[in-house]
Amino acid sequence: MVELRGVTKTYSNQSLALDGVNLKIKRKGFLFITGPSGAGKSTLLKLLYGEERASLGEVRVHGIDVGKLRGDRLSQLRRRIGVVFQDYKLIPRKTVAENVAFVLWAQGYSHQEVQRRLTPTLKMVGLAHKADCFPTQLSGGEQQRVGLARAIVGMPPLLLADEPTGNLDPDNALQVMKIFQKLNSFGITVIVTTHDDRLVRMADRPVVQIRDGKLHQVRR
Ligand code: ADP
Ligand code: ADP
Repeated sequence: MVELRGVTKTYSNQSLALDGVNLKIKRKGFLFITGPSGAGKSTLLKLLYGEERASLGEVRVHGIDVGKLRGDRLSQLRRRIGVVFQDYKLIPRKTVAENVAFVLWAQGYSHQEVQRRLTPTLKMVGLAHKADCFPTQLSGGEQQRVGLARAIVGMPPLLLADEPTGNLDPDNALQVMKIFQKLNSFGITVIVTTHDDRLVRMADRPVVQIRDGKLHQVRR
């Protein structure tokens, strides 16, 4: 499903973000990636959804060599990958429903199909009653759950989350983590970066740590 082989990433300013990383995640797996700030966690996820390219090595997602994709082919792959960000990245002038539906509109889904998918997705993140609110009217935890709804509304088999609980208090962080676990139980492969050790300890899932661009196994 996801595989990195000998992946090194050096940015144009010569900073070495990843250094010979090997990683394999099975279909329907769940993996935490921990490590200090600047260790290379975001870079690893960016390589998976094609936001950055590896300097050396190979990155495969759904069996496809991501580093070789351009344009439409890359867009097609991205439709099969949901991404959740620490700062939510919601569109402030759109309602909750519009923020989530936008993804489907952009992919050319019919009005009917958008409606059919929207309601269950908002229910799944516990926000059906906030469909017509704007992001500024929501708490941080609720905003992140909108981010989650947007990431999964297209039913991607792979979900990537970059410090999704970084701006949340412990209760909200736990709630968001439970949604990730639920999605994983539905068969979605989930990769979460975090430096919140409590979350990692609570969820009994495999953990790898990145330090100085190198990967180390913490828990199988
Ligand atoms: P090493 O030089 O330590 O073998 P690798 O880059 O080959 O370094 O891998 C780092 C560690 O991460 C290894 O112990 C490997 O088994 C582990 N690892 C790789 N993928 C996963 C995964 N999906 N889940 C758990 N551990 C993993
Ligand atoms: P993390 O997500 O673990 O905090 P990052 O992947 O963001 O780490 O960063 C890893 C290293 O790469 C850091 O030294 C960071 O400064 C550097 N880096 C990240 N993005 C860029 C970029 N666009 N240009 C240059 N250096 C970058």
